[in-house]
Amino acid sequence: MEKRLKILFSVSVVILIIASVFIFSSIYSTPDPAYEEDKLIVAASIIPQKEFIEKIGKEKVHVVIMVPSGADPHTYEIEPRTLQQVSQAPLYFEVGSGVEFESNYMDKIKSVNPDMKVINSSKGLDFIPNPEGLDGDHDHIHAENEADPHVWTSPRNVKVMVENIYQELIKADPENKEFYQKNKDEYISELEELDQKIIQEISTKENKILVYHPAWGYFARDYGLQQIAIEKGGKEPTPQSIANVIEQSKKNNIKIIFVSPQFSRENADFIAEELDAEVVLIDPLAPDYLKNMLIVLEAFKKS
Ligand SMILES: [Zn+2]
Repeated sequence: MEKRLKILFSVSVVILIIASVFIFSSIYSTPDPAYEEDKLIVAASIIPQKEFIEKIGKEKVHVVIMVPSGADPHTYEIEPRTLQQVSQAPLYFEVGSGVEFESNYMDKIKSVNPDMKVINSSKGLDFIPNPEGLDGDHDHIHAENEADPHVWTSPRNVKVMVENIYQELIKADPENKEFYQKNKDEYISELEELDQKIIQEISTKENKILVYHPAWGYFARDYGLQQIAIEKGGKEPTPQSIANVIEQSKKNNIKIIFVSPQFSRENADFIAEELDAEVVLIDPLAPDYLKNMLIVLEAFKKS
């Protein structure tokens, strides 16, 4: 009987130890799938990049995005938790167009993961001047970044970005080259289809679009639109610049103001009232890039 008790006691102790180890590890280990062994961990800055990378890598990659949903990459301040996530990534795809998040934090990100390879996704793109740096009617550029950083809002630029991403994924994981190539070619075809659709549906309209935040410069350039922005340089517009925008919009008979969810719409609402215009929400940072661009296309078509 005493022996049985001893055995029972020993078994209980073993079970208790195993249970503690489980509980301890589930509390203290990071449950982040970035640690999954069979996936290539890839980091990037903004949400639209997630689709660009995942469409090529599918289940073979795990994408970690630095600037979370709802945050503005011009002003977002990195959190320790985010830095922790990037510490395991062998690859980082920068947007590479001068997004403030990258100018401010790439050195810090590299310092937590010195072996990480940082790739410029915008290699080969033609930049346009930063509208946030244009001073009124002059073409004098005084923004910190001379280029407009919002390159991803044109699907034509995204085709180049996707090729850049593909080239690095096959270097990092050459065994799966065929898989990546097939996926990349499929996604490029989808982007080309989108490009054709936009050309057919808006390119001939030559419309001016009134936006709160100037995120659509590349889209406007590639599809024959002209972007008028209310906010410049990330600052609240002055009463004078609001008056200018109202005058310009009246001249052009503008009836829609496009706002994005990362910014306050107070000024846009005020201008909308003055113009008897409608305020329409479009998001330059939404996930599901292709789907989102169709929503954007429908919105611009009405302008
Ligand atoms: Zn922006």
